[in-house]
Amino acid sequence: MDKIRQFGYQMNSRMAQFMYGRNGFDNLAKICNGIAILLLVINIFAQSRVVYLLWLAFFAYSCFRVYSRNIPKRYAENQKFMSMTEIPRKRAKLLKLQWRDRSVSRYYICKSCHQQIRVPKGKGKIEIRCPKCGERFIRRT
Ligand SMILES: [Zn+2]
Repeated sequence: MDKIRQFGYQMNSRMAQFMYGRNGFDNLAKICNGIAILLLVINIFAQSRVVYLLWLAFFAYSCFRVYSRNIPKRYAENQKFMSMTEIPRKRAKLLKLQWRDRSVSRYYICKSCHQQIRVPKGKGKIEIRCPKCGERFIRRT
């Protein structure tokens, strides 16, 4: 039992040594890895060469990011990717919240400052005031 545990520790520290000075799983690597897994599952059914090549590309790129030693460059790419996808990611998050709280609340985005505003549902037509910038707008809840 102790030997197994010792072996586990050794593997962990070796892994840590190996990963030292490497980029690791950043958001972009995680997303590429997620897409790769999805493509792999799709290809169980599709058995298509195109899907296979796409899988290979996403898988290779996520590995490249994880093991890359050029951390500043990978960091800059990741930041760029995150800022480019900020609006769709925010929207997806909002949809998720909207769905989770669909029986009690509604969510709106302030048009002038993009602040997310939560309003109780079923109040009819009301004036909503943005808590961040004070912008007012009328919505049916
Ligand atoms: Zn606002």
